[in-house]
Amino acid sequence: MATEITFVAIKPDGVQRGLVGEILSRFERKGFKLVGLKQLTPTKELAEKHYGVHRERPFFDGLVEFITSGPVVAMAWEGDGVIASARKLIGATKPLEADPGTIRGDLAINIGRNVIHGSDGPQTAQFELGLWFQPSELNQWDPSDQIWRVEP
Ligand code: UDP
Ligand code: MG
Repeated sequence: MATEITFVAIKPDGVQRGLVGEILSRFERKGFKLVGLKQLTPTKELAEKHYGVHRERPFFDGLVEFITSGPVVAMAWEGDGVIASARKLIGATKPLEADPGTIRGDLAINIGRNVIHGSDGPQTAQFELGLWFQPSELNQWDPSDQIWRVEP
């Protein structure tokens, strides 16, 4: 499994509900490496680019309004297979269909307030990381317990 980096964001509802620590710790405990982290209130331009694939959908305007309504916590997580694994940790888009044990399954009810975003594939991850982070904001570092994270 190749080492990848993915983009994850705690949406304004997750920040307002005090779920930042809970969500960060789920990715940390899984074993992924945090390589980027910041809080920002996205501009309309950033939000429209980020959700550009949904531009024609009826929920687009409301989604952009919501995501720009307050601070978001943007994260970059690195690890083997992290792109697909993060989507598993996050759970299905509709929280009522998300399995218990997933972030949305445990912490959310409504599709329009589903707490967290995660890139859905390698190309999306690359696009979203470039959109939300400057290259200088992504850190290269070796965890001191790296020996316990890799295949023996
Ligand atoms: N969304 C919504 N209504 C819908 C479908 C999606 O409000 O009917 C929102 C929801 O917050 C979702 C986001 O739009 O997380 C992006 O939709 P997508 O299908 O890409 O889901 P995700 O990748 O976040 O699971
Ligand atoms: Mg998506």
